[in-house]
Amino acid sequence: MFKKTVAELSRALASKAVSSVELTQLFLDRISKYRDLNAFITVDPEKSLAQARAADARRAKGEAAALTGIPVAQKDIFCADGWLTTCGSKMLSSFIAPYDATAIARFSGAGAVLLGKTNMDEFAMGSSNETSHFGPVRNPWDPTTVPGGSSGGSAAAVAARLAPAATGTDTGGSIRQPAALTNLTGLKPSYGRVSRYGMIAFASSLDQGGPMTQSAEDAALLLGVMAGFDQRDSTSVDAPVPDFVAALDHPLKGLRIGLPKEYFGDGLSADVAKAVEAAIAEYRKLGAQTVEVSLPNSSLAIPCYYVLAPAEASSNLSRYDGVRYGFRAAEYKDLIDMYCKTRAQGFGAEVKRRIMIGTYALSAGYYDAYYLKAQRLRRLIAQDFEQAFEVCDVIMGPTSPTTAFKLGAKSDDPVSMYLSDIYTISVNLAGLPGLSIPAGFDGKGLPVGLQIIGRYFGEERLLNVAHQYQQATDWHRRLPKGFD
Ligand code: GLN
Repeated sequence: MFKKTVAELSRALASKAVSSVELTQLFLDRISKYRDLNAFITVDPEKSLAQARAADARRAKGEAAALTGIPVAQKDIFCADGWLTTCGSKMLSSFIAPYDATAIARFSGAGAVLLGKTNMDEFAMGSSNETSHFGPVRNPWDPTTVPGGSSGGSAAAVAARLAPAATGTDTGGSIRQPAALTNLTGLKPSYGRVSRYGMIAFASSLDQGGPMTQSAEDAALLLGVMAGFDQRDSTSVDAPVPDFVAALDHPLKGLRIGLPKEYFGDGLSADVAKAVEAAIAEYRKLGAQTVEVSLPNSSLAIPCYYVLAPAEASSNLSRYDGVRYGFRAAEYKDLIDMYCKTRAQGFGAEVKRRIMIGTYALSAGYYDAYYLKAQRLRRLIAQDFEQAFEVCDVIMGPTSPTTAFKLGAKSDDPVSMYLSDIYTISVNLAGLPGLSIPAGFDGKGLPVGLQIIGRYFGEERLLNVAHQYQQATDWHRRLPKGFD
């Protein structure tokens, strides 16, 4: 039962082959059995089982939706009423959220069960889950390697089938890169598609929540619940939510796939290149055509992001002052000292690095040289995509330049860590939807992800393109040894 997708579990619940209480208990048992992965920060069996009982009652009354009774793990960046919500930080290590994020409220409204809160890089800053105050997460495919980040706990949880599905958030790659490193389907929706209300802010103009699942079909089911206009998020877009599941079955004949030449050059590991090329060959067999495109400003995406994201973060994180939220230093002389000690003790090294970079970039005299210039560059990066989409329907390439790396391998070298997002970060800067799907394994048996980038609000097409590949291949059904 634990190997089933959300779509399959939904049918099992509908046919009464299993109850939500049984399913929830099954996954809670797996979470405690595989505690060493450190995928969860908080589990609360009583709360989850109460939701499961309510879901079973709702099904008995014939009022079920597709996700009613399905346990879903939530990244610990989403506020959930009455749940500890830490964002991976000591700063919020005692913060009990007093309200639900819109995404959480929508899952509850659909009758899904909140299975637990997953581990993550502190304030979603990282690519390996090693900046978490609660310790690193292990990758079930090889416990000596990282699961990717920042949604590493969600990735490990679904990859090891401790949860049938999870949510993540993606500011520069944090859904897609961990999905790639753990053999999952991970979708970053278009900016504005999913409400950010109650999703703890890192870089507000880039952050988007989305599903991390076993298949594109499951991603369609979850996105259908998460997506949609929210009055409480002024950047959420008031557009209809299509039936993502209904769009999955379109044939791919005539699909034009753009292959950016910049995504297949230096820095890409040979094993990843090989798997991605094989996946593209499979798409040709399915009736697609390929065309070379160029994204000439790609190499500037990381420097651009590392001005804008820290600038926004330095502003967003100024609210953690020891007065209103969570942690406060135990000893201090006066108010200013309390602020300083609280922030010195409450934030980890990577978060402090971002706050300092961001504050510097925004300071008078430097604003024009850094922030404004990065904003202009962001526009050029978005234009590169607009031009590419004149000759293709979707863009494909690797999600991550390498497969999972060893724990600790990049911890002392932030720039090499930042390069993990070289193929994903520009998608956030342009506000586009991007998805990673399993596309084979490297020589060591570690998963490789194929990234598919779509037009703005083109999630239907993206999920359709991913689903058709998953009908023809079975990479996404493979499980790590020891968890099967
Ligand atoms: N790895 C990138 C960073 O550290 C992106 C993180 C994310 O998408 N949340 O900022």
